[in-house]
Amino acid sequence: MMEIASIQGFKINLLKYTEALNFVKTSLDNGENIQIVTINPEMIETAKRNPDFADVLKFSELVIPDSFGIKLALAFKGIKQEQIRGVDFAASLIELADKYGYKLALIGAKPEVNNKLTEILKEKYPALNIVFSHDGYFSDDTQMIEEIKNSGANLVLTALGAPKQEFFNAKLKSTLQGVASIGLGGTFDVMAGCVAEAPEIYRKLGLEWLYRTVKQPERFKRIFPTLPLFLFHSIMEALKKSKE
Ligand code: UDP
Repeated sequence: MMEIASIQGFKINLLKYTEALNFVKTSLDNGENIQIVTINPEMIETAKRNPDFADVLKFSELVIPDSFGIKLALAFKGIKQEQIRGVDFAASLIELADKYGYKLALIGAKPEVNNKLTEILKEKYPALNIVFSHDGYFSDDTQMIEEIKNSGANLVLTALGAPKQEFFNAKLKSTLQGVASIGLGGTFDVMAGCVAEAPEIYRKLGLEWLYRTVKQPERFKRIFPTLPLFLFHSIMEALKKSKE
């Protein structure tokens, strides 16, 4: 059984990077349907207001802490958990697909970003089985799922932003068989080299959000007041627990 923690009522799986990767491999090899969520504080704040999204999170097979905010919230509760970054995890999944022949679908980002990423990956991994690529600006989910089905993909990476990608992946899970999907936010932009990755020092300190906000100041309204509020609620929750 996988260990699970709760942050403000939302589950987070507690596991090491390699365990998370093995979980995906085992699920794929067993032909199971799984949905992987890379969770951050913004998503938790969204889920509090959106019960349908909260349900999607609840029924996801793997919720990995892709954010320093989540790592910190767990630390307030005395739980030590490494941050599993979406960009790294996506790269590892692609390597896994290359090694074991999983059929990969890349859904999301702008057409030019999606094309560029597909090209970069084909060049880097000549034997990689990319069976389907599509940008993230489509309107008919059902048709897209049909196309994914026809492609035979069993590892589906979606980068449509949250919560859109999680709703899409949930639909995918309820329609197809033997498919693992993961929502990756802005990861395709980074992997395609269209958005610069935060320098190592920022990453080490867990301050990627700060770097991204400095680079794209319009993101400020997305993290403020969400992030401080999330941390405040997390501290309150931890204090309450410690009194009980
Ligand atoms: N996107 C998409 N379809 C949409 C809206 C967004 O494919 O309808 C893409 C967008 O091009 C970007 C990603 O989804 O690549 C969202 O990135 P963002 O940084 O907003 O997401 P976050 O990582 O904050 O969830």
